[in-house]
Amino acid sequence: MPSIFSKILAGQIPGQFVFRDELWAAVLDIRPVSPGHALLIPLHEAQHLAELPAPTLAALGDRLARLTVAVKTASGAPAVNVVVNDGPAAGQEVPHAHLHVFARFPDDGKRLSWPATPYADGELTRWAERLRAAWR
Ligand code: AMP
Repeated sequence: MPSIFSKILAGQIPGQFVFRDELWAAVLDIRPVSPGHALLIPLHEAQHLAELPAPTLAALGDRLARLTVAVKTASGAPAVNVVVNDGPAAGQEVPHAHLHVFARFPDDGKRLSWPATPYADGELTRWAERLRAAWR
């Protein structure tokens, strides 16, 4: 079954588009963290970023950078958050890969939950080794 984003991209349900090209589109989120909160959505439907075709991934940096500029310019914000919920355990509700871009202002009271903790002795090195071994 097509995702809700595929239905928006197909024009079957409404969406407010910032842009659309042959690989990517940006649509306003209907429940914004801040006004102008945009979703960068690949036309190719896949749940995880790593499953997207190479040309789609190759274009991601350009589209994302331009969308951060558009959100900042339109909102006057000095900063944005770029958030990817890549999988349900990370909070992904819509199983079609996407990136959130939303405006941030100093002291805007918005908090991303980010419970950072220090490594135990030796663990930083061990985790670097694990990730180097997993790199493909
Ligand atoms: P995520 O939790 O990362 O999967 O985020 C999915 C996002 O899609 C949420 O922020 C929703 O508010 C947004 N969303 C769901 N349905 C629609 C829709 N019809 N149009 C625009 N945004 C939507």
